[in-house]
Amino acid sequence: MAKYTNILVAIDFSSSADEDEIAQRAMAIAENNATKLSIIHVVEYMPPFMMGNEPIPSTSWVINEDELVDNVKKKLGEFVRRLNIESADQVVSIGTAKREIIRIAKEKNADLIVVGSHGRHGVGLLLGSTANSVLHHSECDVLAVRVDKK
Ligand code: AMP
Repeated sequence: MAKYTNILVAIDFSSSADEDEIAQRAMAIAENNATKLSIIHVVEYMPPFMMGNEPIPSTSWVINEDELVDNVKKKLGEFVRRLNIESADQVVSIGTAKREIIRIAKEKNADLIVVGSHGRHGVGLLLGSTANSVLHHSECDVLAVRVDKK
């Protein structure tokens, strides 16, 4: 079986236990295959450019995106300290998680994306999830690590 050479693991910082489990799974595959491992966190923040037809006045509550990305990079840096991932492979981007994960996976020529998967039912299932969307739009393999096992 062909080995993975380039893995991208996506972390949403919603639960440290889940993140640990997802990262450990990605790391185990990377170690077994002597693979390059990259990590991504997407800041799902939409800049408030307009209020109706009026541009929003520049006020102190408008978020400084550079500062936001820097802070998240620090958090990601701490998380990956034990994962041996170079800083160039620690990606923080702003946008929609599903789109950014796919975009960065292509940019990095990933052959495997590792995401967490929370079993969804009812409306949640209809609305879909990041894991689902990545699975359907990715050009490479996707490993969805179940993080809500009972
Ligand atoms: P969801 O199905 O939306 O609960 O998300 C499942 C998985 O998608 C998470 O465990 C992460 O692997 C990935 N994910 C969701 N949101 C983000 C995010 N903002 N940045 C990076 N990965 C994310």
